[in-house]
Amino acid sequence: MPKSNLTRRDLFGLTAAGAFCSVLGLPHAAAAEAIWGRNKKPKNIIFCVSDGMSAAVPTMVDQYLELTTGRGSYWASLMNEDYVVNGLQSTKSLTGPVTDSSAASSAWGSGVHVWNGAVNWLPGGIELRTLLDIMKTEAKMRTGLVTTATVTHATPAGFAVAHESRDDEAGIAEKYLKLCPDVLMGGGDKFFSSTLRKDKVDLYGKFVGQGYTVVKNLSEMRAADLSKPLLGIFSGGHMPYTVDHNHDPKLKASTPTLAQMTSTAISQLKGGSGFVLQVEGARIDHGGHTNDFAAQLFDQLAFEDAVRVAVEFALEDQETLVVVTSDHGNGNPGLAGAGDEYFESAGGLKLAQNMTCSFVPILVSIKLKATHDNVIEVVKDRYQIELSRDEAQFVADGLTKTSPTSKIRVLNQDFSNLAMALSNHTHVNYMTYTHTSDHVLVSALGPGCEFFNGLTSNISYFSHFLSSRDLSVTNMTMDFETAKSHYVKSNMVAGDHWH
Ligand SMILES: [Zn+2]
Repeated sequence: MPKSNLTRRDLFGLTAAGAFCSVLGLPHAAAAEAIWGRNKKPKNIIFCVSDGMSAAVPTMVDQYLELTTGRGSYWASLMNEDYVVNGLQSTKSLTGPVTDSSAASSAWGSGVHVWNGAVNWLPGGIELRTLLDIMKTEAKMRTGLVTTATVTHATPAGFAVAHESRDDEAGIAEKYLKLCPDVLMGGGDKFFSSTLRKDKVDLYGKFVGQGYTVVKNLSEMRAADLSKPLLGIFSGGHMPYTVDHNHDPKLKASTPTLAQMTSTAISQLKGGSGFVLQVEGARIDHGGHTNDFAAQLFDQLAFEDAVRVAVEFALEDQETLVVVTSDHGNGNPGLAGAGDEYFESAGGLKLAQNMTCSFVPILVSIKLKATHDNVIEVVKDRYQIELSRDEAQFVADGLTKTSPTSKIRVLNQDFSNLAMALSNHTHVNYMTYTHTSDHVLVSALGPGCEFFNGLTSNISYFSHFLSSRDLSVTNMTMDFETAKSHYVKSNMVAGDHWH
């Protein structure tokens, strides 16, 4: 438990209540409710999303840390605290059991299941009211979105705006300008810069005109005047994978981590009449799509560092609800049993210690020279793993040959052959390259956390958050057949949206 920032009064209150509940033998939800106060409402809400996080991702992070440092992960330790409630979330969308990120975030953002690819929007041009809009307008709360994707990407957008398609990120950036959240941080220069936007509109200038401070690197972020609204854009597209960031001194010097952005956001938002902040570790999802184990593992570690920042603030503040969860599974990786009595599995997982980059720079190097000799050399240099000649040839073939299997497999052929060859060594295997329908983990702490006990539906969170300000908004809903007839007619089927 991170008690270092707690006051003596807080510490006494938490431990005394926890001890009381333990004596009574209360389950976690009841214990947590007793600690935070029955029917108490949070002043602030911090919603932390590890995008595309199948259950094996935090599992492997916990086991990797235990094997390499002797201590498990932060989230695993959090789950055992009396003041934390744990549960599962069902993640379906209007399209079906498998959601994309915009429909998943829209479920939280408007309490409605929408079609995959839509952002708080239903056919017929029906725009749904969003959590950030309502909390800002009706409850005068401050609002923030922090992500390692483009800040206009599906998950942050789903909390904030209504838009027909997640793909129109330039349009979503304009809707942010109308909403004026107090904090916007992530990547996506191409959706704000007049030289990169197709319409040549200088959105940075328009944000400055609305009173924003615009920052574009770590030192500017640290020096920012936090009495003003803050727009931080730190890369052209998505921000780099953590494993690439960790091993590139230039990136480390110029680009903030998710934890650093989260800390800055909380500093900007706190002190008023309450805030709602979404924090997204976005690239766990991207590593899932490409079956990139190192990308997922180290981005999940960075996400949990950001969660620690949020939780330490909440323990000190005592009035903040923190929810830690995902929007859907992706890839469904897992550490498989290997060797006699499975004793080789641990060694496979520990190989992550030597992985110094994501698949991206490896594939760039291999594409320049797709021979088995070069593949062996590059993988040995970046991962200290010696591929066999057959494995290396298989990887090279992934760059030059197409697969007769599904569309998604062809899209990911270069990544997938590398992933499969490496899995012979790491014993980490993936089931697919797409999202999955699995329920996802939820942990929560702070006033109102008892709500997240057991199995909860993604659309139920919206009204729970609004109830913290005694607000109630019922958005319009649509049945599957009505929505389907629209999307089939307009040739926009779910298969176009697999992120
Ligand atoms: Zn995805």
